[in-house]
This record gives sequence, structure tokens and C-alpha cells, in this order.
Amino acid sequence: MSYRTEEVAYVQPAQPAAAAQAAQQQRSTAEYRALDAAHHIHPFSDMGSLNRSGSRVIVKAQGVYLWDSDGNKIIDGMAGLWCVNVGYGRKELADAAYRQMQELPFYNTFFKTTHPPVIELSALLAELAPEPFNHFFYCNSGSEGNDTVLRIVHQYWATQGKHSKKFVISRKNGYHGSTIAGGTLGGMGYMHEQMPSKVENIVHIDQPYFFGEAEGNLTPEEFALARAQQLEAKILEIGADNVAAFIGEPFQGAGGVIFPASTYWPEIQRICRKYDILLVADEVIGGFGRTGEWFAHQHFGFEPDLITLAKGLTSGYVPMGAVGLHDRVAKAIIENGDFNHGLTYSGHPVAAAVAVANLKLLRDEKIIDRVKTDTGPYFQKKLRDTFANHPIIGEISGAGLVAGLQLAEDPKARKRFANGGEVGTICRDFCFNGNLIMRATGDRMLLSPPLVINKLEIDEIVSKAKKAVDATAQQLGIS
Ligand SMILES: *Cc1c(COP(=O)(O)O)cnc(C)c1O
Repeated sequence: MSYRTEEVAYVQPAQPAAAAQAAQQQRSTAEYRALDAAHHIHPFSDMGSLNRSGSRVIVKAQGVYLWDSDGNKIIDGMAGLWCVNVGYGRKELADAAYRQMQELPFYNTFFKTTHPPVIELSALLAELAPEPFNHFFYCNSGSEGNDTVLRIVHQYWATQGKHSKKFVISRKNGYHGSTIAGGTLGGMGYMHEQMPSKVENIVHIDQPYFFGEAEGNLTPEEFALARAQQLEAKILEIGADNVAAFIGEPFQGAGGVIFPASTYWPEIQRICRKYDILLVADEVIGGFGRTGEWFAHQHFGFEPDLITLAKGLTSGYVPMGAVGLHDRVAKAIIENGDFNHGLTYSGHPVAAAVAVANLKLLRDEKIIDRVKTDTGPYFQKKLRDTFANHPIIGEISGAGLVAGLQLAEDPKARKRFANGGEVGTICRDFCFNGNLIMRATGDRMLLSPPLVINKLEIDEIVSKAKKAVDATAQQLGIS
């Protein structure tokens, strides 16, 4: 039996079971939509409105392209949801999963047991991560990773006898997932409003969003420094003896690809060290090559105590998250008795096998090196050249293969649209209709394509994005 999902499902349904499966996948778009509307609640969606308009049904993918159930070929400017770093259709990952499912589809790592895939993955991560990161705890998502971070942080301070260190400081418009802890750590007000109760002892400072929030004549560097210094003010307000950790994404992803100026992270690190506070980098998007470094904290030049991983860890082929512990934190956790936290699927063998195959592709095909020296700089320059002096583009942020385009009513005056989210949605819909997947966060248009993208495909994304932004400007009557 050949293992080629695509052929089995779409081209040569040789097996009876596969034929049945293929038949099932050949429903009409209308049928798919009706069944989806009847039975499926989507994440972060207004279901009433979605059911009236109908979802786009994605049926297959290859490289940086997706196909929908009407046969449209769409270029994926978002790598799925910031995760398909090695691109779609990599046989190495499918083979790794298939082999592992036959060998040992599941065993737990709770009761004095382990298994080869989780051992290989841990050793490989220790090799690929910066020097002080030699220990990893596994979960199934970024949200669970950040829940795990909270557990480790509190356990750490307990082992140090500093039981009053309970507060965690994070940022407004940060994103750390959608469990109760992840959602509380995040700074998305609309999520907080829908929570039955928040996790205690989590407080937020302002984000380093220069275009949207800098006042007066501050330079980006001065503004970023001032925003970092809010951390110090907050620590002094709460009392350093009560503060356990600060958590932030090296660059905000879901919040709009907000890249702080170079002054930000060194100052955050200085403050954390001064007041003896753990520094957590949520690397769920930044990790595994997005900026051209293996981890985004390397791009910004700081050294966290904990890193949260997910998304690119498996390139999204199967779910997996992890937390990396700096040696000084790992030592305290390892030498101080029980750590009372675990998930049935911590270190799942199939996910671990896929992660190993994925990391080896990133390493051996030098995909991240290419992002750093070739495709990343090309992408950034192409965007900046294409949108320089565009009447509704106020800022282009990013590095490597991630970028944010700020839609603005008056770019020079840094004046945003009053109804920013609406303009973002208009532009996003133009992208969609042009068969480009680009995400809108409020009035920022985001790109984060698979890291295997080539220059021709980058040209295609940028020219489709330009058409969509032009069409948006035209609809708004701006030229
Ligand atoms: C996506 C994301 C998460 C949450 O990960 P899930 O796998 O969706 O739970 C956490 N942090 C950041 C920075 C993310 O982008």
C-alpha cells in the first residue's frame, strides 16, 4: 500500500476504504457549507454571520499553495496559522507519523516511563536551542505551554523560598493563547470580557506599539524604552518581592506583527535581572525560524529564562507544544521533588516523531539560513519598495518572513482610520477574492508565509497584496 495521502484521497482511490473516503471528500461546496453551518462551531467566529456567508472549504495543499473545494488555487501568506514552516505536503513528516503510529502510537511519560521519539526530540531541541536551554516539558498547544509556564514559575519561586512572588506581568494586546490562563495572560480585552473568571495575580502594562500609541516627537527608540520602563514602574508598584515573572512575545504576532525598537528588550532584561524576576519569551510564533534566527529572542538579543514553543515545532502537521527551561530554572525544578503537572499527551510519540522530522528538515535543508540571508531580506525589501509612499500604508514592520502592514488614513501624520477594523476587513476580503491569504488584525495586514517560499512566490504574494491594498484605497476614495 503506498502512503501518499494526496493520491489516495484525490487521484487514485485504489482501496475500497479510500474510495469511500474520496467520495466523502467530493461533496459539493454547497453541501460542505450546509453541513458545516449545521454542526460546526468555529473558533473566534461570529457563527450566525459566518453561516449566512458560508466558509471557504480548503481541501488540499502543496508547498505554499492551498486549494479550495471550488478548485481555486490560493497562495498562503499565513503558513496556515503562523505554523506550517516547512510548507505543505512534506512526505518526510507524513512518513515519520506513519512509522511511529505502527511502532508505538501512544505511550505516556508519567510513571517512570519514556520512549525514543520524546528522547530524540529533547536531545535535538537542546542542540538547536541556545546554549542554556537543555530541558523541555511537552504539551499539545501554545496555550497549554503558557499554562505550564505559570506552573513552572510558581514552582521555581517556591523552591527558592520566595512564596510571595506570585504576580506575573504581561502586556496589553499580547497574545498567549485561549485557555483561561493563556487568555488572562494575553491582553485582548474582548477575550477577557467573555471569561467566567480570570487567573489571579496577572497584570498588564502597555505594548511597544509605536505607530499607534507614540505621542509627541518621541523616536521609536525613545518610545520603546519608555514602554519597557513601565515594567519597572509596575514592579515598584506591586513590590519586587511579589513579582514572579514577566512574559512577552519577542514580537507581537496576533496583536499585529508589532516589532519593538532595538532599545526595548535589553531594557526589559535589565529590569528583570535587577528585581530578580523571571523573563519568559513566548516563542510560539517567533520560534523555529520566522525572523531568520532559530528563536526570535536571538533576533532581539536577549536571554529569557523560559521559552514557550508550539506552532512551528511540528510545522502544524500534528499538535504539539513545549516549554524550554534555562539551566538555572531547570536545576531548581529537577532538584526539588515532585512537579505536579502533566497532560495525557505530554511528549506524544507521534507528535514527537513529526517534530524531529520537521526540525531535521529545517536544519538539514538550511531553510532558516535561507530566511536569514536570502528570502527574508528579499521579502522585506520587496514589501518596503512596493508600499513606499502608498497613500494608506503607514508602516511596514517585520524581519525575515513575517511582516505587518499598517493601514492608515494619513501615513505621514501617523493617523489611523477611526474604524480601523472595518478597513482591515475590507482589505482582507480583497486578498481573499484575489486568492491570497493575508490576515487582518484591526487595521494591520499580516503576512507570515511558509519558510520554504521562493522569490517568485514572494513576488506573487506582494503583487496580490498590492492589488488588495490599492482596491481598499479605491473603495475608501483615497488615492
Ligand atoms: C498561537 C499562539 C499561542 C497559542 O497557541 P495555541 O496552540 O493556539 O494554543 C500562544 N502564544 C502565541 C504567541 C501564539 O501566537
